[in-house]
Amino acid sequence: MMLHIGIDDTDSPDGMCTTYLGALIYREISRLAEPLDLPKLIRLNPNVPYKTRGNGAVAMSFEVDEEDVPKIKGLVLEMVEKLAELTHENTNPGAVFLEGEVPKELTDFTYKAIWEHVTIEEVEKVAKDVNAEVHKFKCGRGIVGALAAIGHPLNNFTYELLAYRKRELWGTPRKVDEKSVFEMDKKFYPFTYDNVDWGKRSVLITPHGKDPVLVGIRGIDKNRVLLAFESLVLEEIEFHQIFKTNQNTDDHLRFKLIKDLKNYDSVIIRGKVVKSYWERGRHVFIEVSDGTGELRVAAYEPTKEFRRYVRMLIEGDEIIAAGGVKEFEGELTLNLEKFYPVKLVPKIEYRKPKCPECGGTMKSKGDYLRCKRCGYKMPKKLIPVEVSRELERKIYEVPPDARRHLSRPLVLPGGENKMIG
Ligand SMILES: [Zn+2]
Repeated sequence: MMLHIGIDDTDSPDGMCTTYLGALIYREISRLAEPLDLPKLIRLNPNVPYKTRGNGAVAMSFEVDEEDVPKIKGLVLEMVEKLAELTHENTNPGAVFLEGEVPKELTDFTYKAIWEHVTIEEVEKVAKDVNAEVHKFKCGRGIVGALAAIGHPLNNFTYELLAYRKRELWGTPRKVDEKSVFEMDKKFYPFTYDNVDWGKRSVLITPHGKDPVLVGIRGIDKNRVLLAFESLVLEEIEFHQIFKTNQNTDDHLRFKLIKDLKNYDSVIIRGKVVKSYWERGRHVFIEVSDGTGELRVAAYEPTKEFRRYVRMLIEGDEIIAAGGVKEFEGELTLNLEKFYPVKLVPKIEYRKPKCPECGGTMKSKGDYLRCKRCGYKMPKKLIPVEVSRELERKIYEVPPDARRHLSRPLVLPGGENKMIG
């Protein structure tokens, strides 16, 4: 029979990592039963407030002998109990088991957990309806991700290879030869991506916390992900595991009208810029209307040079914008991940004419213009000039280090589909 196992929320900022625990469980159970595929790493709605790092849950499926089921379940629970960071106040692990085929109702729930905000009560109801076995540790918020991960069909997916450090090295500086990472990127990009930021000369595949992950390599081709990993010069590792994942699939985005937006939604909207940019601190904002409502749209400071393109939008432009909806200063605000200018209106600038007498430059003096060279005076009449728009008809996206796990980079095939496909 088929047995699905899901776990989530076992980690804390001080260590552990749900993928590591998931990988350990996958290796352990694979000795007792036949894995049906690679383990799944499922990212849920990136906007929910209580997420653990990156909000990733892990699920896996096995063909098992019926008599082994109790033993396997016992083993999984034992490992969660032993390895999860149960002492951390914000770590509330959940483990879920489901036997047989995944019902459609569960898949529907999975997408709800990716697009919106779901409560533990909803999860428990769905679990009961689909006959899933739910185990909560402490308040057990992890059952949301654990159940949702089991329900994800992964029709679209990417890979991530995660290499885990030897336990005695956890918390020490990671030994990753940077040069080998740049070499790897040259050879394997874009089949593996987000390896480095060439502009900042920085390496992106290493996390910075105390968790067991040494490097994570993302890609769209399993073999090349593995070859890329093998080309790196690294400290000795404990083991590595390739996951199939919904990362970088734009899974979280769906089209919505502004009037229907709720806090924590991840959405695509289409509308007109009704107020061109203003800045607060280092954040850049515009206002967009789609006829059903108006929405403040933000490019926050960490999106760096991406803000430049948002500043180029002017009133009347029509855009498709994608991102997460979150209250900012009490107002629903779209935190931009990418945007596409559908229609750019002509941009008019008013300029002073040249001096009709001598061709010199005119200077404003109250209601008059006065020639700097010959002193000719005339009433101030400015000339409208259409200036070229710097924006192109293409999708603009935030830089890799500001990108959401689920957001699809434009360099990947289908990177434009969700927005303009
Ligand atoms: Zn003049």
